[in-house]
Amino acid sequence: MTDTPRPTAPEPEFRDDVHVELVKHNAADSDVLWAARVSTAGEQSLEELAKDPERSTGLINYLMRDRHGSPFEHNSMTFLVSAPIFVFREFMRHRVGWSYNEESGRYRELQPVFYVPGADRRLVQEGRPGKYHFVEGSPGQHKAAREAMETSYRHSYDAYQRMLAEGIAREVARAVLPVGLFSSMYATCNARSLMHFLGLRTQHELAAVPSFPQREIEMVAERMELEWSRLMPLTHAAFNSNGRQAP
Ligand SMILES: Cc1cc2nc3c(=O)[nH]c(=O)nc-3n(C[C@H](O)[C@H](O)[C@H](O)COP(=O)(O)OP(=O)(O)OC[C@H]3O[C@@H](n4cnc5c(N)ncnc54)[C@H](O)[C@@H]3O)c2cc1C
Repeated sequence: MTDTPRPTAPEPEFRDDVHVELVKHNAADSDVLWAARVSTAGEQSLEELAKDPERSTGLINYLMRDRHGSPFEHNSMTFLVSAPIFVFREFMRHRVGWSYNEESGRYRELQPVFYVPGADRRLVQEGRPGKYHFVEGSPGQHKAAREAMETSYRHSYDAYQRMLAEGIAREVARAVLPVGLFSSMYATCNARSLMHFLGLRTQHELAAVPSFPQREIEMVAERMELEWSRLMPLTHAAFNSNGRQAP
């Protein structure tokens, strides 16, 4: 037990969005070109960059189509992501070409920010495992989901605060907190690992192999894709025109 009185616990905040911010990058289509051209131009490959933009588009498309993947690795993007823990559990399954650092529930008191589905989140699942689709929930279902979540979140956060007030360590008290709690992380990737992630975590009409990701991780993926498409427009276009599969 500590003698220091604890400040009043903050009021829970309920959010239906995710936050994705590109905080650092070193990524351009030209990074793909010089890496690829070392095959034929050797140490002169950097000088080849300015030559013939049409050839450059063609080369990126060829690399994507024929799955020559390594030239897409010579770049880097770091994102700050805030999303519910259940999104992070799915996200961190992506092991290759990704680096993660996440806020600690041992070293800091976790803030009461919780996920609730927005009005446009389809609530009702239909279909068979592996090929689900989702349809609109009724206003009653939206209300029920929101009320149940908010009640449960408040209850768990109260329990967390009560344990902290008793002097129990954060790393123990956090066990009562749900996967709808928001966390934050830095995630660093390159274009190749991002494409692999996007192929699996977005649903897209151009995908040669459809995937059926959970909507909330797809919201994160869509925001990352938008940032990446601005940095590497030729690579992004080639990804789309070749079935959205990582090379
Ligand atoms: C719609 C959907 C539903 C899912 N459902 C489930 C589920 O119910 N349960 C569950 O546990 N997971 C589930 N997953 C997670 C999935 O099984 C993968 O763990 C996740 O998508 C990461 O993919 P990955 O392994 O290809 O990526 P990465 O780990 O980034 O690997 C990239 C690529 O590297 C190669 N690679 C990486 N590690 C190895 C290795 N050890 N051996 C050989 N090759 C390797 C593979 O070619 C792999 O595709 C689901 C994923 C999606 C998209």
